[in-house]
Amino acid sequence: MDGDSMKLLKKKMILDILVIGGIICITLVRLARLGEVELSLCAQFVLVIMGIILLIGGGVYLFRKYRCPWCHRIYPGVFTVWTEECPHCGDKIE
Ligand SMILES: [Zn+2]
Repeated sequence: MDGDSMKLLKKKMILDILVIGGIICITLVRLARLGEVELSLCAQFVLVIMGIILLIGGGVYLFRKYRCPWCHRIYPGVFTVWTEECPHCGDKIE
């Protein structure tokens, strides 16, 4: 047991939350810069840091966890639908 028995759906959800959360943070700051949203400079700073951490976290997660448990290759189509089988080795994805 390596503790890596999470379902792919759960992994994808975590990855999506990290990446989307990061994008939302950065987008909010962009909107604030354009004057569309009211945010204090302090809040903008915090959001930029949070966004960067979330995106880096997503990237690290992608490379460490978002892999086939059999051939250890990263799944393609991160932001699209996935299949029941690994496209690299054809083994069933749990
Ligand atoms: Zn595989």
